[in-house]
Amino acid sequence: MAARIAVVEDEEALSILLRYNLESEGYVVDTVMRGDEADIRLKEEIPDLLILDWMLPGLSGVELCRRIRMRPETQDLPIIMLTARGEESERVRGLSVGADDYVVKPFSAPELMARVRAMLRRAKPERISGRLAAGDIALDRQSHRVHRAGREIRLGPTEFRLLEFLMQSPGRVFSREQLLDGVWGRDVYVDERTVDVHVGRLRKAINRGRERDPIRTVRGAGYSFDETFQTNRSPKSASVPA
Ligand code: CA
Repeated sequence: MAARIAVVEDEEALSILLRYNLESEGYVVDTVMRGDEADIRLKEEIPDLLILDWMLPGLSGVELCRRIRMRPETQDLPIIMLTARGEESERVRGLSVGADDYVVKPFSAPELMARVRAMLRRAKPERISGRLAAGDIALDRQSHRVHRAGREIRLGPTEFRLLEFLMQSPGRVFSREQLLDGVWGRDVYVDERTVDVHVGRLRKAINRGRERDPIRTVRGAGYSFDETFQTNRSPKSASVPA
């Protein structure tokens, strides 16, 4: 069952962007524009995760967060707060009223998606699909194991996250910057060439002999997990073990 995510955000463009990105990751999304409306909605239905803007009409994100934490049925609801850049004291207040994490605007969508996944994995591991599979490659998020054509593939933690990230959105081309945000996190300073190094390591680990390389280099753009990989797999490849 897909995780249900509520987005409380009064900037329409951002709300639409969040819905698009969350839905493309398979989540069920509810969007609300006002704080007071969200307060009512949350009494009727409790999502698996809440993305909450700081400044909202009707009722502020901070006040809403405080109310959510006071109600026993929502006291453990995972909350990611969106704040404006540089509002250090607000961030601290956000965390002190009970937000689990905060993301500073403007943020990149892949970065926020990574935070959402990380939080759901901690709070509701059963709501994240444990397994990603494409062609003869299977990735198990719980055991952190990867198999190709029946053999186990040993990957370092970064290569694992990189493969997971790419396999989540097959066909979508990610720039090196987006991969850095999504896989390494934006707070970490890493040179963009680092991405190439790790993609190289990942390819070396997963491709053997004449096996088809599922990672596509898009010149001038970045990398993507080839969505046609499943249909054009090499004739020698075995099926994925159950
Ligand atoms: Ca706002």
